[in-house]
Amino acid sequence: MQERINVNGSISLPAEAAVSPLDRGFLYGDSVYETIRTYGETPFRLGAHLDRLRRSAERVGIPYERAPVPIETEFFRTLQAAGHGDAAIRIILSRGIGPVSYETAEVGAPTCVIHVRPFPRPLPRHINEGVDVAIVGVVRNSIYALDPAIKSSNLLNNFMAWAEARRLRADEPILLNGSGQVAEGASSNVFLVKEGRLLTPPLEAGILQGITRDLVLDLARRAGIDAGEEPLRPEDLRAADEAFITSTLRGILPVRRCDGWPIREGRPGPMTIRLMGMYDKVAQEETNAGSEPGASRK
Ligand code: PMP
Repeated sequence: MQERINVNGSISLPAEAAVSPLDRGFLYGDSVYETIRTYGETPFRLGAHLDRLRRSAERVGIPYERAPVPIETEFFRTLQAAGHGDAAIRIILSRGIGPVSYETAEVGAPTCVIHVRPFPRPLPRHINEGVDVAIVGVVRNSIYALDPAIKSSNLLNNFMAWAEARRLRADEPILLNGSGQVAEGASSNVFLVKEGRLLTPPLEAGILQGITRDLVLDLARRAGIDAGEEPLRPEDLRAADEAFITSTLRGILPVRRCDGWPIREGRPGPMTIRLMGMYDKVAQEETNAGSEPGASRK
């Protein structure tokens, strides 16, 4: 697998790829994106990611249908150019190039960038023991500002939260919303287990509707686990019986410590381990069936 970048249909090595300094993605963070992973050659839940990309673009008024290239076709072409193996792919759609002004009348077609790189495998320590999280002071954007439901590349707030977590020697920050409720990680959703119930913040808390989160809720409910989307307080997380984070690139990772306090003696709990197994099974099944047309779009 070789890293490759496709800019508006032109595929090259990272060092040769370029976007204009007048692109609004660069000037204003005026772009939306998706992160997708493949198992071998087959993307996992590509249809859900492309749907979310379209929804994000719609929410900020980037004309998805005016993309200069067919995104799905270029996605597969870039994947093929990168060669075999598990990949992480970022698709970025910016509003395009325009004058230095908020005025959009003279902005051209959107810019489409597709970046394929080898899949960054989670560390064995993170899978077997868990990640350390810290509840940070940086607050998640309000749903009345840049709504976290929009997967925008305007990620400075997430980065500041991540940097704060790093200073606290944690792997992932947990951001609260303006009301002090648990929202999500800088690039993950968060779940906890309390007295046998699986709990995660509701969409109204101001979070991204994670594709992994949706799958975990679906798997849990189908397995008869009592799974709720309910407002959670920081104390609920610190005192949880189990906790884990979810994302496309990390799947399900147990939480080992929150703010330095061990969760469940610092070892992954039974519900977390069970869901990790169910998640892996679905991912394997769907992607092994990848030769079936549409299998990745389930
Ligand atoms: N929340 C945020 C802020 C994220 O950036 C991500 C990663 N895309 C997630 C949650 C997890 O979403 P998904 O499971 O769709 O990757």
